[in-house]
Amino acid sequence: MSALTSDTPIFRFAPSPNGLLHLGHALSALLNHDMAKASGGRLFLRIENIDLSRCTSDFEEAIYRDLSWLGIGWEAPVRRQSEHFDAYAAALAELDAMGLIYPAFMTRGEVKARVAAHEADGAAWPRDPDGSPLYPPDDRHRSLAEREELMATGTRHALRLDMQKALERISGPLFWTETGDGDRGEIAADPALWGDVILSRSDAPSSYHLSVTVDDALQGVTNVVRGLDLYAATSVHRLLQELLGLQQPVYHHHRLVLGPDGRKLSKSEGSTGLATLRDNGLWPVDIRRLAGL
Ligand code: GLU
Repeated sequence: MSALTSDTPIFRFAPSPNGLLHLGHALSALLNHDMAKASGGRLFLRIENIDLSRCTSDFEEAIYRDLSWLGIGWEAPVRRQSEHFDAYAAALAELDAMGLIYPAFMTRGEVKARVAAHEADGAAWPRDPDGSPLYPPDDRHRSLAEREELMATGTRHALRLDMQKALERISGPLFWTETGDGDRGEIAADPALWGDVILSRSDAPSSYHLSVTVDDALQGVTNVVRGLDLYAATSVHRLLQELLGLQQPVYHHHRLVLGPDGRKLSKSEGSTGLATLRDNGLWPVDIRRLAGL
């Protein structure tokens, strides 16, 4: 291994232990491994388990087993997000001190009903790049007294970023550097497409966007290699980096491994699960071939 310097590239593979790894994860993990090796870089493993209701230690063990079988090594310690809620809370407090966060009280069902009522009249409700409806503006305009009253009565709420105010805080347009399989070069970020993103839920004190951004910075990640399904989310990550004064990595969003039906693989995809393929007698070299490497 080459000597580590402050310019040593740092990569990370960041799976969520809410299911078994499949060929799509293998592609991501192998690309991270190969790119780190080719550049004399380091590779971290991050277990993204903020959703304590869906993540299990059995799935986490399976991640270690599958990666080791593939011949992928990572540097200790593994960063387990469930052990770092204080770091996400600190970032949240910073955004709150800037006045960019508000409590959001509408339940999923209420949002759904609102959107359905709106669309029943023939009007389109704006949706984010993943197809989910943007959060209605009502809560953003509540008075302090109203918010306090709702909280005092124990109404469950999430914390959301006031996108409009957040965008007003930053000077000029945001870009990221992209080297992946989609559009490359300097990509213009457009966080407004996501509306008032959720940063903390009543049942999970952080969100994917917040914890991934904070962790990439705290781990000094210089190269984010992940699937093209997260390409659009990078706009939110760039915004959070800018607001929190965090360094920005170079992004490489790779093609997805598709199932026989042409759709993205899901965690319940038995036939493409790494453990199933291993049990069927395949070798790591076969996994590379099946993942298209
Ligand atoms: N935890 C995410 C997933 O399993 C990946 C996050 C990322 O690479 O930014 O899809």
